[in-house]
Amino acid sequence: MNTNAATTAATSSFDQLALSPATIANLTALGYTAMTAIQAAALPPALLGKDLIAQAKTGSGKTAAFGLALLANLNPRRFAVQSLVLCPTRELADQVTAEIRRLARAEENIKVVTLCGGVAMRGQIASLEHGAHIVVGTPGRIMDHLERETLDLSALNTLVLDEADRMLDMGFVDDIAKVAARCPANRQTLLFSATYPEGIARIAARFMRDPQRIEVASQH
Ligand code: ADP
Ligand code: MG
Repeated sequence: MNTNAATTAATSSFDQLALSPATIANLTALGYTAMTAIQAAALPPALLGKDLIAQAKTGSGKTAAFGLALLANLNPRRFAVQSLVLCPTRELADQVTAEIRRLARAEENIKVVTLCGGVAMRGQIASLEHGAHIVVGTPGRIMDHLERETLDLSALNTLVLDEADRMLDMGFVDDIAKVAARCPANRQTLLFSATYPEGIARIAARFMRDPQRIEVASQH
């Protein structure tokens, strides 16, 4: 029996993962019939709690790779910020928020709050006071909230650095360092990037615990 095709299909199926039946059903409803290459490579170790440096080109499905991992770590009945995703720009933060909301819609009442510069603090503070499980934002504004003590990361279990190469290019490394210092030391850190410039290894050495490196070839 030639099982090559079947094996390939089985290893890229979301239902192989330790995800809730509701999440699997939601992925099917979203038309996510198979994992993309980066999802297939990153999700198994991410769901085991490992720190990852994951590299894959734009459009390869990196948001769901970290989004499903942070949702698996989340307790919706705990009213505290449990995941933080740092993004380089407001536009990207809005896209990540929208994708996480799609991925989370089968779960009970998960609140995702976006915190970016160029938006009044007042509304953001009100959203945080109302309760947020997941925060997505740009490093400068997240630092602002930490300094004003309007954001508490003491219950955080997953820190995501999305588009890490662009955040380095934009000079966010010091803000990332300060934010990471305010997160619990035993958190999981997931770094996603389209490229792997030298600065990424330095970030990893500073903020990550024995990270596993995953790279998906760009011809995929
Ligand atoms: P990246 O962050 O790598 O640039 P995104 O996470 O923005 O990529 O995903 C690109 C597009 O692919 C999005 O529209 C997303 O909804 C879609 N997508 C992600 N994973 C899957 C999947 N497993 N099956 C089908 N579509 C997917
Ligand atoms: Mg992305």
